[in-house]
Amino acid sequence: MGATFRVMAFAERSPDHPPEGSLAFVDDDGNRVLLDAAEAVLLFGLTDGLEAATVSACPTCRSRVLAVVAVLDVLESGPFHPRATDLAELTEEAPTLHVYVEDLVTECEHDDWLDPGFTEWCEAIEEIPGVRRPAP
Ligand SMILES: [Zn+2]
Repeated sequence: MGATFRVMAFAERSPDHPPEGSLAFVDDDGNRVLLDAAEAVLLFGLTDGLEAATVSACPTCRSRVLAVVAVLDVLESGPFHPRATDLAELTEEAPTLHVYVEDLVTECEHDDWLDPGFTEWCEAIEEIPGVRRPAP
């Protein structure tokens, strides 16, 4: 009794309360790998913000388009990430040359993402059922 939950972000994963996820890796078929907040921060830390694999990115949040081959390179050459196997599997099975990262915790509407990559990203992300979209 009397337990506090001040450190929710670092709470243990529980099957009853799956984390909603902080970052989603999505392929063109709609397969997804969700990272929680700590995993997302770790991944960006280990991979220099996925810089080497980024084809196009929103300048104000973590949403981006990644090149499949480069993602695999980054995952293999960098220090081991606890979700590297899941990410590599998704990436290897991606039906196109790109995979997409959606920042699930930002309020960003990507207004400054003025690149053809953004259109591609929208098309890939919006086909995914169950992803929370900002109200129009
Ligand atoms: Zn954005």
